Amino acid sequence: MALTPISGRACDGCTACCSFPPIRTEVLQKPANTLCPHCTIGQGCGVYAARPAVCQGFFCGWFFLPELGPEWHPNHSGVVIRSEYFSQDTITLLVLHLTAFLVSEDFAGMVGSWVEAGIGVEFERLGPPGYLPAKMRMNELLEEAVAARDLREMHKIFAWSLAHIDQDHTWEPDGVVLHTDLA
Ligand code: SF4
Ligand code: SF4
Repeated sequence: MALTPISGRACDGCTACCSFPPIRTEVLQKPANTLCPHCTIGQGCGVYAARPAVCQGFFCGWFFLPELGPEWHPNHSGVVIRSEYFSQDTITLLVLHLTAFLVSEDFAGMVGSWVEAGIGVEFERLGPPGYLPAKMRMNELLEEAVAARDLREMHKIFAWSLAHIDQDHTWEPDGVVLHTDLA
């Protein structure tokens, strides 16, 4: 899997990764699913030059996977692909918003192609502010529907899985208390 950002891809005003992850650095600590105090929605980082290394080095999967069309940009899809798990040969799809894209043929087709290629596929949802996200492996659940090219069944499994994570997971606190030394 390529790890060089594809030329021409941009955040385009998305600030999702200044919100969903917990940040634990010496100069900035921020709980999960809370907006960083230095971020302005739609504009970005107010301490860009001084932002921690963890922020400087982060690109979501949108930047790395050439097979993704513009509809996969987090602004449109509501989905952030967690590039942190690429090294485990896994595509983790953090579903931030339940959008029409999730019931599109494009989404099901791409997820199906990853399942057929033997790549791990996980769905992930955010917990309440200050709690870690939770994820579910999808491959075994989807195998039959993917083999049968049964889009309707795939969509049912997507909906069931996301609802299951939201309703049945016991969310764990991340233990991070907001603190910043950045101006
Ligand atoms: S989630 Fe992706 S597109 Fe959105 S701000 Fe982060 S790196 Fe940029
Ligand atoms: S320091 Fe800047 S880049 Fe890092 S999370 Fe905060 S706003 Fe985003």
